[in-house]
Amino acid sequence: MDNETKIIGRCPVCGGNVVKTCKGYRCENNTGEDGKCGLFINGVIGNRKMSDAEIAELLEKRSIMLDGFATKEWKAFPTVLVMNADGTIAMESVVARCPRCGGEIRVGAKAFNCSNYRREDAPCDFVIWRNIGGHLVTAAEVREICESGVTSEEIEMYGENGVIYRRKLGLSPDKSKVIKV
Ligand SMILES: [Zn+2]
Ligand SMILES: [Zn+2]
Repeated sequence: MDNETKIIGRCPVCGGNVVKTCKGYRCENNTGEDGKCGLFINGVIGNRKMSDAEIAELLEKRSIMLDGFATKEWKAFPTVLVMNADGTIAMESVVARCPRCGGEIRVGAKAFNCSNYRREDAPCDFVIWRNIGGHLVTAAEVREICESGVTSEEIEMYGENGVIYRRKLGLSPDKSKVIKV
């Protein structure tokens, strides 16, 4: 290994070091030989250039929510990248089940929305804003709110004049919205 090799994280397949290459990120055991690890992560995913820090978080936590991906028509969208056990990467826009109607909660540009938003017979307007009190709500927190009704940890938020306060985020009793509890 030469001095310029930059270790980004640990390979989820074989436990080896993942290093940066000119085209992306490669497991050091990915030597092209049969039977060796085949892990390679492209430096560009969904028309979005990945940073070393983002790849490091993906390798460590196995998922990361990011903005700025783009369709072939260059329409921007956010999604959650998930690293599978075999080292492949999937895009998952669905982060939880709607606590109100059972629909899919998907990450959008400004909010996590219910997939039944446009259903004509029974529209569901359940929404969790991505920014609550200056805090950027994570996919894990959305899952906790939808599954358990409340986040496990208190979250640091900002009031008027920059006053810092800590509350959990949870469902209102009628499960229609998210409130600070
Ligand atoms: Zn590997
Ligand atoms: Zn719903």
